[in-house]
Amino acid sequence: MIPLAIPDLSGNESRYLQECIDSTFISSVGPFVTRFEAAVASACGASRAVATASGTSGLHAALTALGVGRGELVITPSFTFIATANAIAHCGADPWLFDMEPGSWTLDPVQVEESLEWEAEERPEGVFHQKTGRRVAAILPVYTLGTPAAMDRLARLARRYRLPLLADAAAALGATFLGDPVGKLGADLTVFSFNGNKTVTCGGGGAVAGQDAETVDLVRHLTTTARRGADYTHDRVGFNYRMTALQAAVGCAQLERLEHLVGAKRRIRARYDAAFADHPRLSLFPQPPDRESACWLSGVVVYDADSEAMAALRQQLLQEEIDVRPFWKPVHLQQPFAHAPQAALPVTDGVWGHVLTLPCSAALTQEDQERVILAVQRALERGAGAA
Ligand SMILES: *Cc1c(COP(=O)(O)O)cnc(C)c1O
Repeated sequence: MIPLAIPDLSGNESRYLQECIDSTFISSVGPFVTRFEAAVASACGASRAVATASGTSGLHAALTALGVGRGELVITPSFTFIATANAIAHCGADPWLFDMEPGSWTLDPVQVEESLEWEAEERPEGVFHQKTGRRVAAILPVYTLGTPAAMDRLARLARRYRLPLLADAAAALGATFLGDPVGKLGADLTVFSFNGNKTVTCGGGGAVAGQDAETVDLVRHLTTTARRGADYTHDRVGFNYRMTALQAAVGCAQLERLEHLVGAKRRIRARYDAAFADHPRLSLFPQPPDRESACWLSGVVVYDADSEAMAALRQQLLQEEIDVRPFWKPVHLQQPFAHAPQAALPVTDGVWGHVLTLPCSAALTQEDQERVILAVQRALERGAGAA
């Protein structure tokens, strides 16, 4: 089977892991975590970063640090991995779900601007969603597939309404927007995931990066049980969300090869794009000209295939030992978030069921990729994927 996306651990991963074990500093204290945090901050252009147990826990701690609380709303796209919405729900808040730009698959700043203008009300205590009377507590764009959102416009909106701006950059380490790395795009905090299926992985893990020392230190405080000093004094309800040194050791080795890993992902995407660009039934993943995606996953969109045809296409490729998968089912269609306020979602509804992700491990050989390309073309010729 040609797998969808497996980690490339061929650098110093095992050496650092062994070093970490030999040192006995395997919990969240120790040189590897500190080193990993410095490497993440430097890789994304932030002044500092806090390593966390996962991307989800990083999002939860970051939302909490930015003041999101019970009963409030957080503006976020419906087209995201469920973890974004879960982190909001862990705060006792709800997502206010928005559509995405067709050209980037990221949060549509125009729709957000219009909704804030017409459906929200500014009061001295903040911005309130008129229909529900709930406070709007933050804007949380997602860097879909490693592509940054329209952060210039979103940062302007955040300033205009005095809302915190938090970026879910889970799979976007290495991406740029107008040449700037993802830690420098105007978000108060930027969250990464180092889950096993991401380009850079620690097995599991996350990080929260930012420019403002006080905000990042608050995240650190929250992730370490909100403990003050050496005695057991805790000044609020905190979390146990720190990354272990075992994970950080693997992450340090991965980050040494960040450029290589992201470069490999981009070459894979470019080869698929070149192979399928002229196919009458296939559309490519969006590539906005002002942003350089980290190209986390590769794939195609089959707009004329219904759900049965998509399943048949997947089945045929799986039979040929090629691991292909559907992509995120949007949050507004998920049972736990069915009640969440939502804007019109025509782009999201039109895209999500037609996405087919294709094998794109950083170490995928050109030969294997050729086999995938031919198999996709053949499957479509044979009628799989026809509605
Ligand atoms: C992977 C991912 C997450 C979750 O990260 P975990 O480390 O698995 O908790 C959150 N948001 C997006 C967009 C992701 O792709």
